[in-house]
Formats: sequence, C-alpha cells, structure tokens
Amino acid sequence: MTVIFEKSVAGRRGARPPECDVPDRAEVASRLLRDRPAELPELSEADVVRHFTALSRKNFGVDSGFYPLGSCTMKYNPKATEQIARLAGFCELHPLLPQLPGGDVMVQGALEVLFEMNRLLCEICGMSAFTTQPLAGAHGELTGVMIMAAYHKHKKNRKTRILIPDTAHGTNPASAAIAGYQVQTLPSDETGLMNLRTLAAAMDDEVAGVMLTCPNTLGLFNPDIARICRMVHEADGLMYCDGANLNALLGVCRPGDIGFDIIHVNLHKTFATPHGGGGPGAGPVGVCERLVDYLPASVVRKNPDGSYRLDYDLAHSIGYVAPFYGNFGVILKAYAYLLMLGGEGLRRVAENAVLNANYVREKLKGHYDLPYPQPCKHECVFSASAQAAAGVRAIDIAKALIDRGFHPPTMYFPTTVPEALMIEPTETESKETLDAFIAAMIEIAELARTDPQQITGCPRTTPVGRLDETRAARKPDLASL
Ligand SMILES: *Cc1c(COP(=O)(O)O)cnc(C)c1O
Repeated sequence: MTVIFEKSVAGRRGARPPECDVPDRAEVASRLLRDRPAELPELSEADVVRHFTALSRKNFGVDSGFYPLGSCTMKYNPKATEQIARLAGFCELHPLLPQLPGGDVMVQGALEVLFEMNRLLCEICGMSAFTTQPLAGAHGELTGVMIMAAYHKHKKNRKTRILIPDTAHGTNPASAAIAGYQVQTLPSDETGLMNLRTLAAAMDDEVAGVMLTCPNTLGLFNPDIARICRMVHEADGLMYCDGANLNALLGVCRPGDIGFDIIHVNLHKTFATPHGGGGPGAGPVGVCERLVDYLPASVVRKNPDGSYRLDYDLAHSIGYVAPFYGNFGVILKAYAYLLMLGGEGLRRVAENAVLNANYVREKLKGHYDLPYPQPCKHECVFSASAQAAAGVRAIDIAKALIDRGFHPPTMYFPTTVPEALMIEPTETESKETLDAFIAAMIEIAELARTDPQQITGCPRTTPVGRLDETRAARKPDLASL
C-alpha cells in the first residue's frame, strides 16, 4: 500500500476547478504568500476512487461484520436515522440564527426535537428532567457529579467522597476526581456485585454519593439495588447511575423508579448513533425532581401557545457544560430512532439484547471460564485464564477472531476478571450470526488446546501481522502496508 502522495504524477487531474474568484495574490501581504505551490497529490479521478476504496476495505466496521465489543452497545446504526440527520432543514441550521420576535422562530423545529428528546428520556429513565448538553458519556458523568456537588453545597452538606465499585468504567473515578471528590473503590463480592455489607462499612456522612453501573460491567443486575439506594439516601448521599449501556433495561425497568437520582445515557451506545473514533457522541443527563434546579443552562421550555424558547434564568444551575445545546445531529438521530421503535419496540430491544447475550453465554460456557455463571443482562464476561495457562492469552484469541472475520470482543476489562473477554452481541444480530461467532470461538478454544501456535501466530489475513503496539503508537508508520 502506498500513500496517495507517492501515486502523484505532475499535471494529472481528476477534476478542473472553476476560475479562481478570490482576490489576486497581489492583495495578500507578501509575508503570507507561499514561495512554492502547496504539495498536493495530482491524480486522475479513478486513481483517487481506487485509492480510498482500497483503504476502506482494510477497515472493519459494523457494515462489514459482527462486532461483539462489550460495554459499548450501539453496533446498530440504522441507515434511516442517518438520512433524517442529513435533512437540509436540520443540518443547515446554525445555533446563532437570529431570534425573531415572539421567540426562536427560525429554530422552533430544532427546539422541539430537544424538548421532546428530553421528555422521552425522562419517560424511559423515570427521571424528572434531562439535559442534552453533554457531548459524551464521560462528559455526562462530570455534569452529573457537578450537579451532585451543587446540591450538597446548596444544602451545606460536608461531603468529601464518592464510592465506586471496582468493576466501574474508568471514567467514573476520573469524573468524580475532576469534580473535586475523593474516590473510594469498593471491592465487588464473589458474585461480582456491590454488596450491602461492604457498602455499610464504607458509608458515613461524608459520602456525597455512589456511582453504579446498572446492569454492571459484568452484565449483572444487582438484586440489592433498591436497598443500596435507601442506605445512601439515609446519609443524604445521591445515587448516580452510569446508564451508558441501557439496552438491557429499555421499557422493562426505570432507574428513577429504582431510586437513582442522576443518570447519564450514551446516545452513541444505546440509541442508534455510531460509536467510534472518539466521537461524535452525546451523554444526556437526567435528574430526579429535587435536582432539577441544578441542571445546566439553557433549558428548552414549551410556551402555553405551543412554541418553544430557551430559558437561561435558572437560580442554581451549574452553568454551561457545552457550547449551545449539545451534539444536535446525534440527538436528532436518537430521537428518530425512539420514534421509529416506540414503547413496544424499545422493550423488544431489551428482550433481544438479554436473550442474545445469554445465548452466547450458554453456548460458550463449556469452552471458556465463566467466573460469574449466573444469567446475565446485555453482555457476558468470560475469562481466557485456562487458555492463558497453556500460552494462549485473551489478546491471541482476539487476533484469531480477526482472521475469522469477527471484530474482537472487549478485552482485559473489567479488570477484576483475569484475561477478560467481554462479549456483547447487539440485539439486532441474527441467530445465524451468533452461531457463526460461537463456532469460531469454540474452534479457537480447541486449537488453543491442541495446536496453540495456530492461535498465537494470528492474525494472518490482515495487511500487517502482530504489531509492536508501543512502537506503533509512538512512531506510527502509516505507509508501509
Ligand atoms: C462507554 C462508557 C462510558 C463512557 O462513555 P464515553 O462516551 O466513551 O465517554 C462510561 N461508562 C460506561 C459503563 C461505558 O460503557
């Protein structure tokens, strides 16, 4: 594979731009002028198309195959919602469009989307109000913990710590620390859950709150969750729900009803937006009634005449957490997705997510260690420790899956499971796809036993084999494929 610059031939053209209509170079200060023309590749149209088509084929994405990455739900990106996000009436809007007399007349449709999205998320999560401002899950967490801090400050509570289980996503302790709290990590018990005894031993009046993922990152639902909420509330602590992956709960139970006070959800995991490359994402935050006044400004309100306006006048707001109203295109896609599914469809998302994960768990449990064997929710976590003892580690299994046309599952997370393989089959995957993946996993487990070098030598089908990952990150060589 050569880079496009190496294919350049002086004078070759794919398209001819119209005559230049920007001011003559004589009008530009001479110190700003180039002394040589810009180095741009010169190629024909076919050269360019073939170059990028070849590159795209080296990529693996949800459009090329099964993607069982755990704790990272949304591998279903409906094409219809992409089309809706591209509608000119939405994508040609600008947040600084003039506010005409009588309200934000030119952006009424966009405000309605935000208002309705907040309303639907309240209904799905059992919360009183939502903000769509946060631009990612971690950003939502920080917003949520800032709301928690504002509440305690207002009530003059002296709070110093946030309790977080050892299975949490790394962003949880990071968000709590950035918001100024000490983080106390609570060890999970032998069933993989936060238990009441450990919590009681850690609780005191200085605990600002507990951040819990629900179901947790092992895919397990904590049957003591309501009692945990009660215990934390007794010390005027707040319950934070990391709802990044809400697939298992949709339409079945609502975190607000369980007793959670704050939640963030990842639209780019649970609600139809592509997830990858660090963005774009959206991490809306919902709160219970007594925290509504602390939400970020602005808030979209509905006027008695049915029109919408932005309200900046919030007494205890934590202020802006993002420019304007959040990642509008992402919110729009998620809104379209919710309308497409409806209440019944959402419930089926949850049922199929749980069914698919338990199917994979049952089929693979004789072949890989399953440290927490109880039924799971939307994902299941295996350990490759038996294979590792024979020299085949989780990373080798991941590379062998690539050769078999599958994206690897999440590995080495949660850190409480040695050689973790965290599998989350999306709810939209068919039984045939799951069966093919299961067959590949079983074949790999057999080979790990009988002929381990077949696995440790993978991948063999990719443009490059095993990379020195540190060197690849520090001194990337993008041209020598
Ligand atoms: C992905 C994830 C996050 C963080 O979300 P980002 O959008 O990547 O910042 C937080 N918690 C859990 C459980 C997650 O899976």
